[in-house]
Amino acid sequence: MKPLFDLHVHTISSGHAYSSLKENIEAARERGLSAVGISDHAPEMPGASHIFHFTNLKVVRESLLGVRICRGIEANILDFYGTIDVENRIARKLHFLIASLHTPCIQPGTAEENTRALLGAMKNPWVKIIGHPDDDRYPLDYEELVSGAKREKVALEINNSSFRASSARQNGRKNAALMLTICRREGVPVILGSDAHIWYDVGEFSLCRELLDELDFPPELVLNYTLEGLDFVLNSGASTEGEDGPLAPPSPE
Ligand SMILES: [Zn+2]
Ligand SMILES: [Zn+2]
Repeated sequence: MKPLFDLHVHTISSGHAYSSLKENIEAARERGLSAVGISDHAPEMPGASHIFHFTNLKVVRESLLGVRICRGIEANILDFYGTIDVENRIARKLHFLIASLHTPCIQPGTAEENTRALLGAMKNPWVKIIGHPDDDRYPLDYEELVSGAKREKVALEINNSSFRASSARQNGRKNAALMLTICRREGVPVILGSDAHIWYDVGEFSLCRELLDELDFPPELVLNYTLEGLDFVLNSGASTEGEDGPLAPPSPE
């Protein structure tokens, strides 16, 4: 099976990435991808673009060089309720949000707190993907995480960059393997993301695929292998019709 899309791609607008939108789209085309998602870091990440960068994504055509363009953002989770730095009035202009834990934006908590943060973010109807839930700096309860993803129909990411020796994330492969084992048992689909910060990493999933092969993970649970998988991601989450204004954080339990 061949991955058809990559929704986790950064351009130079993220502040610590090195390629333009055009270079990334060309790289996606060379990989034979049908769609690419642009998901630059949201404003709370040091060096990221102003929110106007994201509202103006409307100027980007739906399809360029034969590749469908999905307009997204990688939101930062700011607290253990899952509050993110992208208001609904901005989110509604985009095709998808990835929500992730990043050290400049939130200090790691206990496994219970980190998991609560991700479950809270999943309740945001615009969040379609949980980015790199695979890092021992942010320990997680993977049983809870997978059942939350199933309930909220949010995709859990298998992040190719987390598996590199140079990654700041810790034990990404071990944690992803555990998550995949639970996803297989529960029939919960996953999404592959390159987390490319330079053009030649767009659609680069070789480390993800090595792990999937090793675990004999069922291809029908990998969203990237079909265009229906892309529709599932973009259309998942709670109904958002008519919704506006920031979500109130859920009350503490
Ligand atoms: Zn980054
Ligand atoms: Zn990230």
